[in-house]
Amino acid sequence: MHFSDELALDGNALAGPMAEFFAVDVTSALVTCNDCGAAAPLADQAAYVGGPGWVLRCAGCSSVLVRFVTTRDAVWLDVRGSASWKIPTAPVQRSLP
Ligand SMILES: [Zn+2]
Repeated sequence: MHFSDELALDGNALAGPMAEFFAVDVTSALVTCNDCGAAAPLADQAAYVGGPGWVLRCAGCSSVLVRFVTTRDAVWLDVRGSASWKIPTAPVQRSLP
């Protein structure tokens, strides 16, 4: 991490706030950085929680991956800094005819 390491928590800090809006545990989501292309679980990224919202930065290059803000009547989720999120799900059970 290159951006204010002493202020950063790990990405698990976003698990609680984001759990209200995602039906899955997002800490294991593989988040790919739009700038450097590094892919790492959300839990391994750098979370900044001291402002009016939460900011998740890439552990590789410190670029902003996610901005997450809640207000009284809305949730703002800005994921422009991430190229993709791979969210693991339970295997789909398919029945054969
Ligand atoms: Zn990066």
